[in-house]
Amino acid sequence: MSQRPAVLLIYTGGTIGMWADTTGTLRPMDLAHLEDQVPELSRIAVDLSSVAFEQPIDSSDMRPNDWVRIATLIGENYADFDGFVVLHGSDTMAYTASALSFLLEGLQKPVVLTGSQLPIGTIRTDAKENLITAIEIAAAKDGDGRPMVPEVCVYFEYQLMRGNRTVKVHAERFEAFRSPNWPVLAEAGVHLRWNPSAILPHRTGSLKVHTRLDDRIAVIRLFPGIRAGWLRHALSQADLRAVVLTTFGSGNAPTDPDLLGALQEAKDRGVLLLNVTQCVGGRVEQGRYATSQALQAMGVVPGADHTVEAAVAKLMFLLGRERATAAVEQAWGTAICGEFTLA
Ligand code: ASP
Repeated sequence: MSQRPAVLLIYTGGTIGMWADTTGTLRPMDLAHLEDQVPELSRIAVDLSSVAFEQPIDSSDMRPNDWVRIATLIGENYADFDGFVVLHGSDTMAYTASALSFLLEGLQKPVVLTGSQLPIGTIRTDAKENLITAIEIAAAKDGDGRPMVPEVCVYFEYQLMRGNRTVKVHAERFEAFRSPNWPVLAEAGVHLRWNPSAILPHRTGSLKVHTRLDDRIAVIRLFPGIRAGWLRHALSQADLRAVVLTTFGSGNAPTDPDLLGALQEAKDRGVLLLNVTQCVGGRVEQGRYATSQALQAMGVVPGADHTVEAAVAKLMFLLGRERATAAVEQAWGTAICGEFTLA
């Protein structure tokens, strides 16, 4: 029997495997094309297997049921592999990574999402390094034979980050991702430098794959001049269960009574309102400024240092799990898998 770690590559699409058609538009290609481009794969000391979405997609087309599809694939193959690498478009990778972190309860093995800014066949591509190092990370074990990173993470341009802490911050740079509110889990240079204190502790028990997500939510970004009438209309959708309100700075909003009235009406109808900052880093501190006191008084739930991406995925997950809004609100304040830090 082989002593080499077994890694499953799950190809969902994204730039990494794309090619330019006759008009120059980038379109997804199949897994065989991708593997042909990286002959180095056969030289990595792992037993590599792969599965692919029948139709690889641009990650802008990812939907919650695709997140469930990836989680289910991991669940079905969990016993046979030491780690998993998910090849994914970078555009919505932070959402998928967040969702997987919640869907894969009790995960004890690495799930590393990666992709690239340039297709794998192009000369200056960032895809090869991202792919090869992601596989090495998924296979990495500590001195006791336990996985180095028993959690869902994103590897991009020499940095390994907790998946539900990542944001895509650049549309062109190879350094496309950041983890503004949590230290990197590892840095790749000549050596892989791990940061053990930032990595989730090893867990015991078995994996539980959740499959229910509820997408009856909205994200509303405040801006100077946002109209109360428009906000009232957006919040009046009959099936709306929860809203991620992205606010200014440490959780501040305009104090216009009409605008606050629109929020209060939604709250009174049972819509859960969450306050997440539109800043890339830092946290919400409701009540620190007068401009967030009204939100605090009406029972808007502070989002601490959740990213918008993690907030969206966590809300869908909790709404899928709990019927009562009060139970979702209660569960929101407890970190499930390192997605936020208490003050
Ligand atoms: N549009 C692409 C995607 O997210 C971009 C990328 O892969 O980096 O699928």
